[in-house]
Amino acid sequence: MGDLPAENDFDVAIIGAGAAGLATACAMALEDLNIICFDKTFGFDGQKTGDTRTIALLQNSVYLLQNLGVWEDCLPFAEPLNIMKVIDDTGRFPPVPDASFDASELGTDPFGYNIANDRLVSILAQHARRTPNITLFETDHVAHIENLATKAIVTPFEGQPVTASLVVGADGANSLARRSADITTTDWSYNQTAIACWFSHSLPHKNISTEFHRTSGPLVLVPMQGNKCGLVWVETPEQAKRLLALDEKGFKQHLNDAIHGTLGELLDVSKRSSFPLSGLVANRFGKGRTVLVSHAAHVLPPIGAQGLNLGLRDAAMIADIACKAHIRAMDPGGAEIIAQYDELRRADIMSRTFTVDFLNRSLIDGWFPPLQATRAIGVQLLKLIPPLRKAVMREGIAPQNNLPPLMHSR
Ligand SMILES: Cc1cc2nc3c(=O)[nH]c(=O)nc-3n(C[C@H](O)[C@H](O)[C@H](O)COP(=O)(O)OP(=O)(O)OC[C@H]3O[C@@H](n4cnc5c(N)ncnc54)[C@H](O)[C@@H]3O)c2cc1C
Repeated sequence: MGDLPAENDFDVAIIGAGAAGLATACAMALEDLNIICFDKTFGFDGQKTGDTRTIALLQNSVYLLQNLGVWEDCLPFAEPLNIMKVIDDTGRFPPVPDASFDASELGTDPFGYNIANDRLVSILAQHARRTPNITLFETDHVAHIENLATKAIVTPFEGQPVTASLVVGADGANSLARRSADITTTDWSYNQTAIACWFSHSLPHKNISTEFHRTSGPLVLVPMQGNKCGLVWVETPEQAKRLLALDEKGFKQHLNDAIHGTLGELLDVSKRSSFPLSGLVANRFGKGRTVLVSHAAHVLPPIGAQGLNLGLRDAAMIADIACKAHIRAMDPGGAEIIAQYDELRRADIMSRTFTVDFLNRSLIDGWFPPLQATRAIGVQLLKLIPPLRKAVMREGIAPQNNLPPLMHSR
């Protein structure tokens, strides 16, 4: 370690430049931390990526992007989400009434905005590229990470090792950073596959996001610009395979049936991609000199737009803690910082993981009348009691406690 030149020494090494890794880099760069970020590519410069996911960014994630100075670049590509509808399409008894949540009940801002994932990543990457204290290091992959007492050593596949005080694992579900820090996980799979694409339609979406709860899982329509919707359609793997194999006409027919014709005639459909659904939660969110953010720390099924929103809260939290440590001339990867991050993120990550897993299983795990009755009563109470409805809406957007400062509106 002592042999490495000083220019190879960084305050923070971020492994992975998806939305979470790049947001962490941009947030930490607000203080003069010296940051290096590793990945194969940094944004996509308008090329076709094959990533057909759109991301519903909830209010506090939008505030984060505003505070990072990238929201103005996102806005031309983002569509507001004003109303969220949940429709029980399980056909089970007792029927659960439809529920509709209107953001105007909470104030003036929409619940959030929907944007293509590859667009968001590209905008964050452009911002990182323009930021002097962020080095973007292109490598096929980081091959080795060693957590030592005073520094971590990060070795890219085809380059020289660098040292860093803190390692941020933003390297997705199969995280090398997690394995290198010897952090174990609890993981599970669902017998479900999500199909993601977007499509245009003849009737206006009116900025309503609709979640159909079906016995195979949710089917979610999220408004996009230009009278389009992003689609996340969860099915059994066998049915997903059949839907993916259909030609465009056949797929549109099945989709129109599934959404009961609510968007009129279905027009262009993008390429369809599929994601086998699984769940994962790390048993610790930091160890050695490494912390985990986003998919490296937790993977959830796509219900209620929780995944990346949770990941961005991780990003904003570690940035806040590391920047404060830096201001106080403390080691940003010291044991105190790692323990603080683990403690501050635990309640949010564990409660969201449990809730989303429960909601998903309550749809697919067969008909259990008491559960169905509980859902029916719960939704009825939400409809009848505005303060309860508002509290649930607020908590659905983000936890009310321990929100990092960068996630507040300025
Ligand atoms: C169909 C679908 C719809 C979704 N919709 C929403 C939504 O509406 N709202 C929401 O909040 N969430 C949503 N999610 C979840 C969201 O997509 C994920 O939470 C988010 O993309 C995770 O981002 P990430 O940066 O953690 O990981 P990734 O995007 O997986 O990025 C990880 C990065 O790490 C890099 N990497 C991996 N290993 C290495 C290595 N060894 N060295 C260097 N780099 C490495 C990879 O190349 C990659 O760029 C959805 C998910 C699905 C499947």
